[in-house]
Amino acid sequence: MRLSKMHLKTLREVPNEAEIASHILLLRTGMIRKLASGVYGFMPFGWRSIRKIEDIVREEMDAKGAQEIHMSAVQPSELWEESGRWYAYGPELWRIKDRNGRDFCLGPTHEEVFTDIVRNDISSYRQLPQNLYQIQTKYRDEARPRFGLMRSREFIMKDSYSFDKDEAGLDKSYDDMYDAYTNVFSRCGLMFRPVEADSGAIGGNNSHEFTALAEVGESEIAYCEHCSMAATTERAETRDDAPCDAEMLPMEEVYTPGTKTIEEVANYLELDTKQTIKALLFVKYDKEGKEDGYVAAFVRGDRELNMIKLVNALDIPEHAIAFADEEKMSAATGCVGGFTGPVGLHDCIVVVDSELTGMKNLCAGACKVDHHIKNVNYGRDYKGDIVCDLKTLKEGDPCPVCGAPVKHARGIEVGQVFKLGTKYSASMGAYYKDENQEDKLIVMGCYGIGVTRTLSAIVEQHHDENGIIWPMSVAPYHVIVTLVNAADETQSKVAEDIYAALQKAGVEVLLDDRDERPGVKFKDADLLGIPVRITVGRGAASGNVEYKLRRDAEKTDMTIEAAIEAAITIVNEEKTGR
Ligand code: ATP
Ligand code: MG
Repeated sequence: MRLSKMHLKTLREVPNEAEIASHILLLRTGMIRKLASGVYGFMPFGWRSIRKIEDIVREEMDAKGAQEIHMSAVQPSELWEESGRWYAYGPELWRIKDRNGRDFCLGPTHEEVFTDIVRNDISSYRQLPQNLYQIQTKYRDEARPRFGLMRSREFIMKDSYSFDKDEAGLDKSYDDMYDAYTNVFSRCGLMFRPVEADSGAIGGNNSHEFTALAEVGESEIAYCEHCSMAATTERAETRDDAPCDAEMLPMEEVYTPGTKTIEEVANYLELDTKQTIKALLFVKYDKEGKEDGYVAAFVRGDRELNMIKLVNALDIPEHAIAFADEEKMSAATGCVGGFTGPVGLHDCIVVVDSELTGMKNLCAGACKVDHHIKNVNYGRDYKGDIVCDLKTLKEGDPCPVCGAPVKHARGIEVGQVFKLGTKYSASMGAYYKDENQEDKLIVMGCYGIGVTRTLSAIVEQHHDENGIIWPMSVAPYHVIVTLVNAADETQSKVAEDIYAALQKAGVEVLLDDRDERPGVKFKDADLLGIPVRITVGRGAASGNVEYKLRRDAEKTDMTIEAAIEAAITIVNEEKTGR
């Protein structure tokens, strides 16, 4: 492709709305184009890289025997009513009505649609296992679309669904997909970590997230350097501190004026925060969105409540709970903002972190303004309706598996795999007949890759202050031939020859034949991040050009033939990303 003919508009300035490198660079290179908040289109360079990611995904999915189909983004509400997710998915589900008032949604994911296909088409164990996938546009009306393609409202996802006879079959399908994902992200040039994950609104009970490591990532992961524990902090189990065997002292109400936070009360009473109980107060909503009772959650004062663990314990979706209006809740339950403790609370669901059951003589709010109670003990003074692991695993906490201090890292969730089991086949009636003609539920898995988010993650990991540094496998073009002076006949001829030779060898090559200053051309080549640059300048007259890899600082003078040869070799070595 000749740059002089290309639809390309690069930006010198950093666009106002962009904060992180990948968003800035995808806009500055003109690869993506914003249409509305969280809604983007792709220009030629961007679309070429997207297609390369998609091709890698296809190759790895096909290698595992998965079959590609393509379903509509528009999905009838009836399917979602059947699975129960018309409610459970919440406000992220992009709901639409047709002219007759019938409800549809723009699919955020396709479990219902694929389950529907399979319940209609599959009847016998002989037809299983199956793995169907698509690469398709998804819609989620995200509360906070941000960082460009990273969290958008319209995005491209590869989603696949496996259908097996039994759990053993699912284990195999899951392992295959785990493998395929490992290959996909390695070939895309990403540094990533598969970690155990919560299964969220998708359901099921076994899941891994593939996290591309990046400081700006929204996923927080905890991992252990002494064993193989690695999980999102949403999911990671925690280890309770050893129970204390001190004798229970009598409860004692104390005056603690103005001490609304854990730090304030601990300071005032000269206690360690570990000697206190922290309260968090919530209101629940029913399916119609009406208030449906209150929840009080308790963790030790130095711990942080994990919202995912709380909603899982309550068995409600995340959107069915919010922080309570303390005054309203106070009238109903006796809580007092800043001074709430488990003693004296009524008419609400009390959820207690399991660690608190082993601690002795803690200080908690007295449910009375400016007062706390000392020596509060679980069992004697209060009980939980639910007792479970409710706290977040923090950096330095003991690993839940081996006890060594855990580390934290941030990353971008580029893919996730789930064992769904029979969640959807049971709610939607997807059966097969086994060898004995008995009806059995199909056992399912589902697997997603954010194709557009992967593009962002690649740029986030591969850039410098001058622009993108594409891994060869996903670069929009492999080589750029920079013609320094388009008016010079010798230079033009040499550049054209190199361009033709590389094209003939199957290399994807750009010729920068624009009538621009060399400085502008070099800046654009660096910004666009094409892996190999061959510069044709004054040396052309004596048969020499300059060869440079975008990822290296040094430039090498070479003969024309040597440069062509070197470019072909490196492109062939690296273009598959294997
Ligand atoms: P997140 O926790 O980031 O909201 P998710 O867990 O809800 O994502 P999945 O349902 O697992 O996402 O979707 C599969 C993949 O689709 C994710 O791993 C991610 O790469 C991508 N994805 C999800 N939501 C978005 C989005 N709003 N914008 C871009 N990609 C997304
Ligand atoms: Mg996910």
